[in-house]
Amino acid sequence: MSGSTNAFEMAQAQFDKVADQLELSQEIRDFLRYPAREYHFRIPVRMDDGKIRVFQAYRVQHNDARGPNKGGLRFAANETADTVRALAMWMTWKCAVADIPLGGGKGGVVVDPSTLSVGEKERLVRGFVRIMWKNIGPRQDVPAPDVGTTPQMMGWMMDEYSTLVGSYTPGTITGKPLGGGGSEGRTEATGFGVIFTVREAMKHLGIDPTTTSAAIQGFGNVAQYAAIGFRQFLGGKVVCVSCWDRGDKKAYTFSKEEGVDPMFLMSITDQYGTINKVKAKEAGYIIEDGDSWISKDVDVLIPAALEGQITADSVKKISKKVKIVAEAANGPTTPEADAVLEQNGVFVIPDFLCNAGGVTVSYFEGVQNDQNFYWGRDEVFERLNHKMTDAFKSVLDMSLSKKVCMRDAAYMVSIDKVVKAMRLRGWIS
Ligand code: NAD
Repeated sequence: MSGSTNAFEMAQAQFDKVADQLELSQEIRDFLRYPAREYHFRIPVRMDDGKIRVFQAYRVQHNDARGPNKGGLRFAANETADTVRALAMWMTWKCAVADIPLGGGKGGVVVDPSTLSVGEKERLVRGFVRIMWKNIGPRQDVPAPDVGTTPQMMGWMMDEYSTLVGSYTPGTITGKPLGGGGSEGRTEATGFGVIFTVREAMKHLGIDPTTTSAAIQGFGNVAQYAAIGFRQFLGGKVVCVSCWDRGDKKAYTFSKEEGVDPMFLMSITDQYGTINKVKAKEAGYIIEDGDSWISKDVDVLIPAALEGQITADSVKKISKKVKIVAEAANGPTTPEADAVLEQNGVFVIPDFLCNAGGVTVSYFEGVQNDQNFYWGRDEVFERLNHKMTDAFKSVLDMSLSKKVCMRDAAYMVSIDKVVKAMRLRGWIS
């Protein structure tokens, strides 16, 4: 198995492991190990100083057998074609495991969004749509926000698309702002969905959630609502969160023995998920090295920042007390570290199950856009809770019946659905 932290190699290694167990034919493997289509393009943008800057961009469409491709658009300085490929592939599995009729896609632009003005961001995302509009749309490929992009940017993209096609088409992008075609509950959806799966895992393991503690890596959209949800829905304590400090160019962990206050921390966090160190210190937070979240003596670890964080090296730092790793981020665990966690009896809720809440509410948003009829907040959360609980149960049942870990079981559930759809469409024999 690969020791690589290259996300696409990781995604392929995870798939190959299960493909062997399922004895998948070569034609199926040839289809699913690679994206069906990818677009690599460069976007010229007029910057505020009057000069043109050209940005490298990607959109990868992994598989649309079960419905239009679906997946976020990232703005990241270290974005690569391989990262986007991996994320697109995981989206295929995520939509299948959550049982929503969509396929897998992902986009990326190589840029640090914090270096752009508001106007430059708007011109960049509009440029993305001007180049891609013939290959995206409600029945082809539906982008959404991800790391480094925001609901406002989705609003601009929807506007550009609607202008180009000459008709209001809100369902071409999800994660739009409320009042601009967005859904109630989309902001909280991924983090809350993570906690719904943690709740189900605790039920299965016979753990009383009110006695538990968690350590979270990251403090962006997903981590913030996972932290709120861990307290609100489970009655547990979050002992630390962490973030990347853009000024110092290093990560820090912020902890409090009695538990962090996510609402307070959100009030001192900027739009990129960087917590203000001075204000946190004044409020009594202990500020440690960015890696220290992983060695905390807690029941649950929630990596909610980036891919490739729990590696063959860092897995050794995980406390014996940890019973659950809830993969809120995409691809946080390398295959090597995964094997160690399995050996140590840690219950891993795999990424594309654990963080499927975001795409689930994105799907709800598309449904509401199609109907031009919008649901209330309670209805969104109730439906989300159902979907996440059902998805968790289908994976747990597979894991128990096939005696495989949750990740392999999630792949089995997803691959089965995607292969069935490909066969029904006549793509494979
Ligand atoms: P975000 O940009 O809002 O937040 C990322 C956070 O991670 C920030 O707080 C940043 O400071 C922190 N971070 C970055 N590098 C770090 C490091 N080395 N150590 C500690 N913290 C670090 O992103 P997000 O939307 O919260 O996404 C987080 C993860 O969840 C990503 O893997 C993303 O693909 C995945 N995800 C997001 C959604 C969604 O709806 N937003 C859905 C599914 C999966």
